[in-house]
Amino acid sequence: MVQKKDRYGNYKKRASRISLRLDKRSEHGPCDIIGDVHGCADELFELLEKLGYVNEKGCYTHPQGRRAVFLGDLCDRGPRNVDVLRAVMAMVEAKAALCVVGNHDDKLMRWLMGRNVQLTHGLENTAAELLRESGDFREKVRGFLSGLVSYYILDDGKLVVAHAGIKENLQGIDTVWVRKFCLYGEVTGEVDQYGFPIRKDWANEYRGRATVVYGHTPGPEPVIKNNTYCIDTACVFGGKLTALRYPELELVSVPARRVYSEPPQSLAAIMP
Ligand code: MN
Repeated sequence: MVQKKDRYGNYKKRASRISLRLDKRSEHGPCDIIGDVHGCADELFELLEKLGYVNEKGCYTHPQGRRAVFLGDLCDRGPRNVDVLRAVMAMVEAKAALCVVGNHDDKLMRWLMGRNVQLTHGLENTAAELLRESGDFREKVRGFLSGLVSYYILDDGKLVVAHAGIKENLQGIDTVWVRKFCLYGEVTGEVDQYGFPIRKDWANEYRGRATVVYGHTPGPEPVIKNNTYCIDTACVFGGKLTALRYPELELVSVPARRVYSEPPQSLAAIMP
């Protein structure tokens, strides 16, 4: 490869491949990565307390300086969406948490921008709650959601967090296509017998050096394979809310207090 020279004849430094806003390589943790919350505020607060966070005036912080990392899908289907938004927004503002965007957050943002989106898949609950809040609050939520990035690279590149995961060759790239992958994962374009999109499991072929932690695909237990952790344990469907402590790689869960939303049949078939 031919290296380019600048106008003084010096070789140009190759630009860092990692987009700046995704680059948290200097953040070494420790942190607690939390899967899809979907408006399950009771379980979220219980989980944060179990992890040692303390609520001071509506903001959970950790006395040892640990930070929470939310994997997105904060809202929809569950009973207390605004309370979850308030708590996570306060933590992010206080630098007690990071948050990446999920497909439900993206759709909620588009609704708040006045776009024509269908109030389905639980967004109808969130929208109803938000319509009881002030316009200022809705504007604050819109601003918060529009600032969420697709994924973060943390701890010298040893940890990557994304809502639906991310393949190794996409890590560091910040394009609309990569954002789509992080939001929805890889889909085949076909639908299953229940009408849900069939997802390819990128994690099966993952051989990357970075540990990837993600949510999006609910299941009764976390799924660990090839240095990837899926920690969406279907809380809103009556499962549990799970955190992965990093670097300890310990899983911590709290059970759902009830079934808030009927699971899709494919999930119901594997739930205990
Ligand atoms: Mn989800």
